[in-house]
Amino acid sequence: MSQKINLSNRLKKVALFLPKGANFADIGSDHAYLPCYVCRQDRVAKAIAGEVNVGPFNSAKTTVQAYQLSDKIDVRLGDGLQVIEKGEVKQIVIAGMGGPLIQSILENGKDKLQHVEQIIAQPNVDARGVRKWLMAHNFQLTDEELVEENGHFYEIINATKRHDNSLLNRWTEKELLFGPFLLAKQTSDFYRKWQHEMEKMTRVINQMKQATIRDEKKITEFERELSWIKEVMNDGN
Ligand code: SAM
Repeated sequence: MSQKINLSNRLKKVALFLPKGANFADIGSDHAYLPCYVCRQDRVAKAIAGEVNVGPFNSAKTTVQAYQLSDKIDVRLGDGLQVIEKGEVKQIVIAGMGGPLIQSILENGKDKLQHVEQIIAQPNVDARGVRKWLMAHNFQLTDEELVEENGHFYEIINATKRHDNSLLNRWTEKELLFGPFLLAKQTSDFYRKWQHEMEKMTRVINQMKQATIRDEKKITEFERELSWIKEVMNDGN
């Protein structure tokens, strides 16, 4: 197929984090658009497209065949990192899922990460949990991007394997909430995202305070986060 692959801006940003000649697994690949886009642009790149559901797995196979990329992209049916062998890939992409699901895929497939040098994660929610998991498992956060698409803001986290002699950056809880690199970049999208989150959190706290049984611990936790958001928003003005 000669037609261009119409990749979303979100996945284009994910693709930009991959090195030239990548040998990667895209877990939860759906239509396999990301591996097809990368492998069409980069002659030496190769990929495994992993899918747990038969429908998206078949869609992925169809796309790969249509673009005549079957020699570079292997589409595999299976849960999370079960589709890869130890040492088979150097990079892992997990995009477009909730943070808790990304964490459980990584946790359940920990034994496959020994030779993986880079993880690119794009959680739809709870990016903080993913950052914490990566740091706790020897992956250093090295960069982040924020992309807006159809009214949603998506955080993309790039992490690389920490070798014994490299310094471990220890981020504060506040930095982990915003994303240390996103906090440093403070783009206009960043302020728009956190303006939206600030309004949402204010509403949630008000509702929690009106509940018959108040969860004081949760209220305190949310109020602390809200105060960080206000601080960051004020710094930007
Ligand atoms: N990665 C693509 C993207 O970012 O646009 C597709 C995202 S789609 C919302 C999530 C995909 O992950 C679905 O196709 C789903 O079947 C797949 N998925 C969910 N859990 C999975 C798991 N444990 N292992 C592999 N794939 C999974």
